[in-house]
Amino acid sequence: MQLNLSRLHFPVTTLGLGRRAAVWFQGCSLRCPGCVSVDTWATGRGATTVDAVMEAMEPWLAKADGVTISGGEPFEQVRALEELLQHLRAKAQLTSDILVYSGYPWEQIAHQVAQWSGLIDVLISDPFVRGAGQTLVWRGSDNQRMHLLTPLGQSRYAEWIKAPKAALPKVLDLFFHEGEVWMAGIPSEGSLEAIQSHLADAGFSAATSQGDCADRNGVLPIFT
Ligand code: SF4
Repeated sequence: MQLNLSRLHFPVTTLGLGRRAAVWFQGCSLRCPGCVSVDTWATGRGATTVDAVMEAMEPWLAKADGVTISGGEPFEQVRALEELLQHLRAKAQLTSDILVYSGYPWEQIAHQVAQWSGLIDVLISDPFVRGAGQTLVWRGSDNQRMHLLTPLGQSRYAEWIKAPKAALPKVLDLFFHEGEVWMAGIPSEGSLEAIQSHLADAGFSAATSQGDCADRNGVLPIFT
């Protein structure tokens, strides 16, 4: 099964509990103003397969506390998402949870999710809305809802549904790869601009994939 992939990283500590293996799908048509992942919007990039993704993640799964799937918009590659979830559920440790982000409202994807009973433990739905507040843990904006879909999801995440962001350390994961720095996590509004400003003060130029303009589509993150 073909899958358009942005990237894979391990360990990611900022998008769910513990040290996680994370998958970013490539392609998102939702275009939320203020999205920090504009580089994942473009379609037709990052062509690979679910099998190749599983092979790359294999060494991580035994030591991961969970798997996070984000994007991009995973539900815009729904068959690839389904197959990936099936493989992950079969391979991941029983104690590993699977958390999926979607920018679609829950009401639009609930029917599909219901057909995947047991494959997703936790789903965070709804688009990023700039100005809606950023007080809740693991959510980019406070309109985003966390759905606990399995007993494992309930047992691990029930206490976090309304937990304030301040309950966890303020952290972003950074990954260095071929002259680029990739970020995982949810920056507060304005924090990327602050980082750019500090870097500029230190004599470095920096560009981010944050923005709300179509002409930013495809800009590679984060600092060059
Ligand atoms: S925030 Fe998520 S759903 Fe919204 S445009 Fe960015 S990648 Fe797409």
